[in-house]
Amino acid sequence: MLDTLVPILAIQKLDMEMIQLIRLKQQRQQELKNLYAIEKDLKKQQFVQDSEILDTKTQIRVMEGDIAEVQAKLKKLSSQQDAVKKLDEFNALTQEMSAAERERTQKEARLSELLDKLATQEDAQESLKTTLSSTQESSKQLEEEIVEAIGKINEEGQKLKSERDELVKTADPEVFKIYERLLRNKRDEVVVPIENRACSGCHIQLTAQDENLVRKGERLVFCEHCSRIHYWQESEMLDGTDAKSTRQRRRKSTKV
Ligand SMILES: [Zn+2]
Repeated sequence: MLDTLVPILAIQKLDMEMIQLIRLKQQRQQELKNLYAIEKDLKKQQFVQDSEILDTKTQIRVMEGDIAEVQAKLKKLSSQQDAVKKLDEFNALTQEMSAAERERTQKEARLSELLDKLATQEDAQESLKTTLSSTQESSKQLEEEIVEAIGKINEEGQKLKSERDELVKTADPEVFKIYERLLRNKRDEVVVPIENRACSGCHIQLTAQDENLVRKGERLVFCEHCSRIHYWQESEMLDGTDAKSTRQRRRKSTKV
């Protein structure tokens, strides 16, 4: 393993944790945003519903006025009829009255329809109100949860950052610069081991020469396909043993 890659790998481990944290934070923020969108939509529906109810109520008032008018007309015709002496006048008034009666019946039917419509609209209004208030209640609860979660994420992020800052001081500035540039592009692990003679980043097959070059660890070796930096994974490292002590151990053993 190339010496300069040791601190970079440690930094990368922290960066991957940080990326996870950021994703988690964004996810939680998105959840909250979705809930707010639902609430906004419900409020919009409520606004439309309220204006529809107002409209129905206006139509009902107009219809009630119309019916009262027809009734007044009928009353007037009836008293006129009482006063007439001639049969043809009486008959004409009878015709006019039955026309007015028909009009009243039609308008009363229409009024009854409007009242039914209003009842349906008011039921829907009530249920929407219930939905909205339960949505608002859960939004509030979720918001508190999310704010708390984000607070913890920020705290953890701060801890990762200071740990990282310390590691960066120990890293080779040139290699660190390359690492950072790659990380910015990929938002994923950019220093990767070779596994079964393949890049574990993009899984392209490598040649024996590529593998040897990496195994020697004399200089940085980049994947020709994905530009990631390759390293040779020592078997001890797989047990989670610190890379540096592994290297030291190996040096000691070669001296013996
Ligand atoms: Zn690759």
